Amino acid sequence: MAEEPKETKPGFQNPVAGFGVTFKAMFKKRLTEQYPEQQKTTAPRFHGRHQLNRHPDGLEKCVGCELCAWACPADAIYVEGADNTDEERYSPGERYGRVYQINYARCILCGLCIEACPTRALTMTNDFELADSSRANLIYTKEQLLAGLEEGMVDSPHAIYPGMDEQDYYRGLVTEAAPGTVRQVAVSKGETPQEAASTFGEGEPASEKVIGR
Ligand code: SF4
Ligand code: SF4
Repeated sequence: MAEEPKETKPGFQNPVAGFGVTFKAMFKKRLTEQYPEQQKTTAPRFHGRHQLNRHPDGLEKCVGCELCAWACPADAIYVEGADNTDEERYSPGERYGRVYQINYARCILCGLCIEACPTRALTMTNDFELADSSRANLIYTKEQLLAGLEEGMVDSPHAIYPGMDEQDYYRGLVTEAAPGTVRQVAVSKGETPQEAASTFGEGEPASEKVIGR
């Protein structure tokens, strides 16, 4: 037997019931966040934008091994490694990451890449402001991901700390750039000695003298 339809309220009561919901909400605590003027502090281990870290003398920790790219379930990382030379050295060992890109249109910020990195070159920051209206802008390059220079660092490429080897860097024996360390010319980036000279501070040696140092 078909069920009897339930008795409905008279039509004029429906708007009144709706306003009742509004009226009750007026006295509840406001949840509106004044973003971006007031930013919430993230949890300490929040997974935000990535960062490529440096050794304390400014050389890069990335060795271009591509393990992060292989670990990524979203195929969001692209790495091309290259050999260091005495004239153009970016990391203490044999290889460095010449090209490094993360596509934030793909990345799900899972953190598997930073777990895979053998040198702790790749970590994640608390920066979550990654939105953009262009897909191209969501592909972050090595220049955007590389950590800034802290006190005691000299920008790569530059020579390894005298008397130290790659293992010494990982043992924490290198704590700052050796006195007199200067940035080398980045030949792989197409810098000419004249252009590279602009990256040197006032009173520092001309870049021509740095080549083949
Ligand atoms: S956080 Fe996850 S998805 Fe994003 S690049 Fe790393 S491994 Fe790939
Ligand atoms: S970030 Fe780490 S895992 Fe990725 S290429 Fe560099 S050293 Fe290898």
